[in-house]
Amino acid sequence: MELFPKALKRALSTYPSGDPAKYRRALPVLLFWLALWQIGAWAVGSHILLAGPLQVVKALASLLPTAAFWRSVATSFGKIGLGFLTAFFTGIFVGWLAFRFSFLQVLLAPAITFMNSVPLASFIILALIWTGSEDLAVLTSYLVVFPMLYVQTIAGLKSTDRKLLEMAAVFQIRGWPKLIGLYWPALLPYLMSGCRTALGMSWKAGIAAEVIGVPSHTIGEQLYLSKVYLSTAELFAWTFTIILISLLSERVFLLLLERTGRRPLLPKGRHDRHSRVSVQGNGHSWLSAQDLDKSFGDLQVLRKVCFHASAGVPCCIMGPSGSGKTTFFRVLLGLEQPDAGSVALTVPSSAPSSPFSVSAVFQEDRLCEGFSPIDNIRLAVPGLSTASIRRELAKILPEGCLTRPVATLSGGMKRRTAIARALLAPSDMIVMDEPFTGLDDETRQEVIRYVLEMSADRLLLISTHQREDVSLLGGELVCFP
Ligand code: ADP
Ligand code: MG
Repeated sequence: MELFPKALKRALSTYPSGDPAKYRRALPVLLFWLALWQIGAWAVGSHILLAGPLQVVKALASLLPTAAFWRSVATSFGKIGLGFLTAFFTGIFVGWLAFRFSFLQVLLAPAITFMNSVPLASFIILALIWTGSEDLAVLTSYLVVFPMLYVQTIAGLKSTDRKLLEMAAVFQIRGWPKLIGLYWPALLPYLMSGCRTALGMSWKAGIAAEVIGVPSHTIGEQLYLSKVYLSTAELFAWTFTIILISLLSERVFLLLLERTGRRPLLPKGRHDRHSRVSVQGNGHSWLSAQDLDKSFGDLQVLRKVCFHASAGVPCCIMGPSGSGKTTFFRVLLGLEQPDAGSVALTVPSSAPSSPFSVSAVFQEDRLCEGFSPIDNIRLAVPGLSTASIRRELAKILPEGCLTRPVATLSGGMKRRTAIARALLAPSDMIVMDEPFTGLDDETRQEVIRYVLEMSADRLLLISTHQREDVSLLGGELVCFP
């Protein structure tokens, strides 16, 4: 509950930007325009044609203490806000459905084009016929905002990083964690930009609807009355009020939205004595690849590759760049289909029905950049408590960086986080694609010790360009191609 007042406080104190120098520059410009307005009002000499700023301030001052003013503001705010929020949630939901089921996107396309192209006035008249004047602003604001949020949601979801989606497939990240960890960060910038436009539009459309429908006790009604009584000063005072509320609500809403991306709402890890790290393999797992072929167009990358590895002895693959190491790993991880050949993975002691699980350090880090190292591990290994993750990460990373967003960490720190994620995930086989790139000698040795400790007797496949890594790992060398 403390989220809202804090955000509100910040919105009030920093609007439109936190930079005080900007205000100092803007003040003379504002004063210039106010003076010009006042001079214009004096020159015109008719407060009906053009009310000056002094008259507007006077009108506002006489409106502010009246109950009717606050009642009108509250009613319009409530109705326009209700229309906006309903459109926000349904727009995201329907957008997500359309992203999942492409036939829905095709089906809805004409409706969205219709909503986007119909003139606002026609909308309002139509809404007036459907709902009557009382709920007119709700429906109008809804109809304006829904298509914007729908379109932005689809675009945002489509922009989700494919590499992260592959990572999620390997670590079997599904459901809520996948939504929060992968889709939401991709969607958020699109939603923010959509809401920035949609909030202003919902106010413009909502008030226009109220002026046409004249529902009682609303800002629209007051604007209408100002017109009837030719009270230009009041009209300006109401306009100023609308702009202020619209900008403030935009600011507060965007701040709240932005906050959802800062701290991931991941389910809590188990917080008990049993959530200790346990990654023991059985020592009898083995991997066998027979006559693997893989081509990309005319380029044959893997040609009759045969390979055998047993748990307990790290398998180190060396080969020049472009020799197919990454492609081979991707085949093992099930991310590429071989053109020919077969891969057999065996874990003798596991139940026949239980699937063979793998974890990986990809050639790129493939971390959720907005999350801390701890949250990145929580995402992939939901069974571990935060305390256990912290303890494990501290073995290869400085304590201070464990809760900072990964985006702010050095390349080497990110690499170590990716390595820890692969090792902490309960897998039968760990595949590491050039895991030690970007690590200095001392750190590399420390990390290699941790890899050996944590891989226990699981199947471990590592590609590297350094012969020294092979001896430090005590591994078996396989040369590619
Ligand atoms: P390594 O990891 O040994 O450096 P890779 O397996 O990444 O080698 O790549 C081997 C070759 O396959 C390279 O020439 C690369 O350009 C090509 N390659 C890899 N993936 C693709 C792809 N998806 N489409 C086309 N070519 C690819
Ligand atoms: Mg590679």
